[in-house]
Amino acid sequence: MERLDYWIRGCVDPFSGERTDIGISDGTVAYVRSAASGSGEERLGMDGSGIDGSRMDGSRIDGSGMGGGGANGGAGAGGAAEGLGTGGRGSPVVVNAEGYAALPGLVETHIHLDKAFLSSRMPGVASDLKQAIAMTAELKKTYTKEDIAERSRRVLDRASRFGVTLLRAQAEIDPIAGLKSMESALELKREYADRMDIQLVAFPQEGIFQSPGTAELLEEAIRMGADAVGGIPYNDRDAAEHLGFVFRMAEAHGLPVDLHIDFSDDPDRLDIAEAIRLTKEFGMEGRVAVGHLTSLGSAEPDVAKRIAAGIADAGIHVFALPATDLYLNGRGDECRVRRGLTPVRLLLEAGANVCYGSNNIRNAFTPFGTADPLDIGLLLAQTAHLGTDEDARRMLEMCTVRASKALLGHSLRIREGMPADLTLIRGAGAAELLYERPRDRMVWKRGRLVAHTVTCMER
Ligand SMILES: [Zn+2]
Repeated sequence: MERLDYWIRGCVDPFSGERTDIGISDGTVAYVRSAASGSGEERLGMDGSGIDGSRMDGSRIDGSGMGGGGANGGAGAGGAAEGLGTGGRGSPVVVNAEGYAALPGLVETHIHLDKAFLSSRMPGVASDLKQAIAMTAELKKTYTKEDIAERSRRVLDRASRFGVTLLRAQAEIDPIAGLKSMESALELKREYADRMDIQLVAFPQEGIFQSPGTAELLEEAIRMGADAVGGIPYNDRDAAEHLGFVFRMAEAHGLPVDLHIDFSDDPDRLDIAEAIRLTKEFGMEGRVAVGHLTSLGSAEPDVAKRIAAGIADAGIHVFALPATDLYLNGRGDECRVRRGLTPVRLLLEAGANVCYGSNNIRNAFTPFGTADPLDIGLLLAQTAHLGTDEDARRMLEMCTVRASKALLGHSLRIREGMPADLTLIRGAGAAELLYERPRDRMVWKRGRLVAHTVTCMER
């Protein structure tokens, strides 16, 4: 057995229900043993220092001076990156993870860092999507790089403590703020590199053709280091023209596509059909993601079913953004108000890869939000009629293995040889994790303990 940095004992795999021990060495998962195949204890000299995840008062977290924990109140408390770290190259740090479930690091698929925490600057709440875009465009004139970075950090710090180790952010590129969002996001990507991998989408929120100068700025954003080309066909003069431009740009630079699409209740607004066609024409199966896609929820069943099959066939990943979708859609319905969600169950049944994202944290589009992916998972489960234990497992997949498949092209799992990105959450089964969303969590990024939150609440 190779030298371990961490030996995590007694956690539960919430998908299988099996007791599992995990060894971490050199940033990767060195071994995984389920109860059925032995604990692995006999394989190691057990003189390492310890982390006791089960302690309620947090007075002793470990024996290696790693700090963290000891606070109450959840996300705002607990360990920041300082004081945490790897277990070093001596004896392994033994983590008593009894009572915890182990998930692959959580994934935030779709979030806007640059316009987070703007609610307090708003003159009021937005009455619909159009007004939310207009109010935010006005505020955007006052952005500075420092201001964007400060609000972004508030999101990233929370997300990290909740267990996010991979995040895709939409950086707004337009003549109003220029490349400020991109510049800020690139600096944050480096700053947070030891806590999470951040992917950046060059996102033309104000449109491309209706907002002259944006095309050139997108090119520059890609040159600077964008990881994906964004698009928003519902906010431009012609959706097909917009989509064609985005796909050509993605092809030219060898980048994936990440679209905001069909964000309405209008069953006739289905630009997704053109996106499916272009995905196949450009041979980009598996490399296109779409957020919102809510018009499909209003489409006639036969139409929706046919499109869902097309989405699955083209390998397009769908990101439900329920906090924003539920909040801004349905505004035109005076009675029998529609939920305005993408049809999650239909898409899953068609075989599409469905995930979810926070989208916005406390702004005109979404005055709510904590940056905990599980909060969004619960909201989606409640509103998309997904209430069985099997559904709960699926909701966890949507912020782990399904989400990493969408962002990376392959699923990150807790397997020997994989990067040691782990999120341990106090609880056992998938339903308990989703319904209670415990704040007691331990988070490893590439084998380094980056967050450890312990609350004082007794169960
Ligand atoms: Zn968005």
